[in-house]
Order: sequence, then C-alpha cells, then structure tokens
Amino acid sequence: MKYPALEDAEFKGRKVLLRADLNVPMQDGKIADDSRIKAVLPTIEYILDHGASLMIASHMGRPGGIENLKLSLAPVAERLGELLGKKVIFAPDCIGARVNTLASSLNPGDILLLENLRFHPEEKKGDLDFARKLGLNADIYVNDAFGTSHRSHASMVGVPEVLGRGYAGFLIQKELKVFEKMLSFPARPFALLLGGAKVSDKIPVIENLLPRLNHLMIGGAMAFTFMKEMGLNVGTSLLELDRLGAARKILDDAEKYDVDIHLPVDIVIAPSTGSPELAEVVAADAIPDRMAGLDIGPGTVAEFTEIIRRSCTVVWNGPMGVFEIPPFDKGTRGIALALAEATGDGTVTVVGGGDSVRAVVEAGLLSRISFVSTGGGASLKLLQGKKLPALDALRGGRK
Ligand code: ADP
Ligand code: MG
Repeated sequence: MKYPALEDAEFKGRKVLLRADLNVPMQDGKIADDSRIKAVLPTIEYILDHGASLMIASHMGRPGGIENLKLSLAPVAERLGELLGKKVIFAPDCIGARVNTLASSLNPGDILLLENLRFHPEEKKGDLDFARKLGLNADIYVNDAFGTSHRSHASMVGVPEVLGRGYAGFLIQKELKVFEKMLSFPARPFALLLGGAKVSDKIPVIENLLPRLNHLMIGGAMAFTFMKEMGLNVGTSLLELDRLGAARKILDDAEKYDVDIHLPVDIVIAPSTGSPELAEVVAADAIPDRMAGLDIGPGTVAEFTEIIRRSCTVVWNGPMGVFEIPPFDKGTRGIALALAEATGDGTVTVVGGGDSVRAVVEAGLLSRISFVSTGGGASLKLLQGKKLPALDALRGGRK
C-alpha cells in the first residue's frame, strides 16, 4: 500500500503540523528515556532542512481530557531543543488564540511544540471542529506517530481530512516497509509465535497469516484455549471459553494449509501467581484440577527454539507466560533469547505488541532483534491484515 511520503511534499516556505509520538516515560518530572524523541529527529530535520517552519503535536500519558501539568510536554520541548541544538518554542496549549499568535510568528526553521493533545477530550473523540482548530495554522500535515495510527483521533484522522491530505514521516515509512515485505514475501520457512492473554485479539492475526505460514507456535494463556479444545485438562488456567470454536477452526485450517501447529509440551503450574514458590513443571497433559498454567516449560522453550532456529522469518506477538512475575518469566526470556540468537544467524525476526516488546527490552535484547515495532495496537492491526485509519486519511479524498 502506497501512502504519500515526506519526499512527495513541497515544504519550502510552508507551515507544517507534525503529529509525532513524544509520549516518553517520565520519572520525578524528568524524562526517563528519550528514545522516542530521538526516533523522530530524522523527520523533523528533513522538514526543517527543506525550508518549512514546524509545529509538533503529540499526546502524553492518559490525562483523560483534562489539563494535568504532570503530563505536560514542556520537558520534551527542552530535551528536543538540546538534541537539535536550537530553540524549541513551547505553546501552553495545542489550540486557541495563544497558539495562533505563536504560530503566526514562526519563520522557516523555527519549531513550536504544542501542549499535550489529550488535555482536550475532543482529541480522542476524533472531533472535527477540534481538528479544524489544530490544523488552522498549518499548510501541510505530516504523521510520524505509527503507534497511534490505528486510532481515529482528531490529530490522526481529522487534521489530514481538514487539510485534504497528509504525508507519512520516516518512522511510519520504515514500519510499513518491514510489515509489507514480511507479509507479502516472507523468507521461508515462515513461523508465527503467539502468546499473551487475549485469544480474541490474535485470532484475526492467525486467520490472516495462516495461508502463508509454515509453523504456528502458541504459548501464553491463549495456548490453554487450544489445549482445552483438544480435550486436555487445563485446571484453572486462563481460558476464553467462547473462543473454543475459533480455536477448532484454526486447528482445522492449519491442516488444510499444511501449517505445523506447535503447542506447549510442558507447562509451569502454580495455584496462582501469588504463590511462585509452589511453581512446578508438568507435562502439558498432566495439569491438575486446581492448578493454573502460568508459563511454558523448559521442554517447550527447547522445542520452540528449534523451530525458530530452522525458520527464516519469525514473527512474535504476546509473552509466553506471566512474565511480570518471576519465575513465570523464564519461558518468555528463553524465547526472546532464541529470537536474538536466530537473528544473529540471519533469520528475520519481528516483534510486535506492547508486552512482548517490553519483554525483549527487559531482557536487554532489543538491538539483537531485526525489527521491533513501536506500535503495539497498530502492528497488531497490520498483522490482522487491517488498514490503519490514520494512514488512509493521508491519501485524502475522504470527507
Ligand atoms: P502483547 O501486549 O504483547 O500483545 P497481550 O497483551 O496479549 O500481549 O498479553 C500480555 C499478558 O498476557 C501479560 O500481562 C501476561 O501476564 C499475560 N499472560 C501470558 N501468559 C499467561 C498465562 N499463562 N496466564 C495468565 N496470563 C498470561
Ligand atoms: Mg498487551
């Protein structure tokens, strides 16, 4: 799918509104990690180098539609200024008279960072009037906030609609390129590894990818829905009983498309996450009634590792267990390591999804994965074969 790119725009002498993702983690009023700011620098520099003045809009945290100075973007303005080596003007709001005054005095090369979009409830509602006010001072709209592109928020969909079209920044272009290549011409064998809690989220991913897959590995809580459908006892493990039929269909379709399905061969069980000291490993067909499966066992890690090693493309979404609570993090860590090692041997590895990305970061393996998607929900949508409304809006022609 082709979207208008930065390189297609004529920036000279124009005013640009850039929707970025500057939602950085804060700790005690300071920026704890500035990688999201650094990530968007190439787009910012490109726009400025091409003779435009720039307004940047972003959200931060979840202020719930009211002003909350703890979630102000002011510290981001300062850090961005340091990184660019030039002054970044900060506007105390994202719309209104003061913003309009600041915007009207911008010269080519100047940057104005607008205050948190989500101080206004209209942002999340996708309100068109609000979008009009946001776009009021801009000639050109650029979106480089991939992680929010599955949302029909005012700054994502409304502004490009109001301005007639928009352009995709470098971060979005990079994300799309990876997904497009992987989804259209994956190097084979192609393996999908799914985990996490919500089967319902991941079923459309499986349905979309199944005809192209060679291996489907399932861990995490979602494995229990499949195991239950296959007649195994899963004790008190997390289940989505209303998805048993969907699991059955996937098992049948996998056979039709000749996809090898790999479910856990062993499971780490405990009465609950509150009693990690009682954790033990059992065979997948020997989960006792009052126990919950909270992680994949070492035998499963070894088996999945072998599949990963033999594959040329591996997509991973969703942790293998309750990785937030040791020792139930072992399976997820083992898999993250397997992916890193396979990447070293030339396998293309892609990790998407908020929690799986967090697991990779916590294991210190981020740089050893081919591509880690910054957008959990947005990458899930792409894997499901769905369109992202904010990207469609860039093409224009919609009202
Ligand atoms: P992602 O954000 O990577 O897409 P999900 O949001 O679908 O992943 O799932 C992540 C959650 O799944 C984690 O909070 C994790 O604790 C939970 N989880 C994984 N395995 C299990 C399990 N066996 N039992 C209960 N929860 C689990
Ligand atoms: Mg999640």
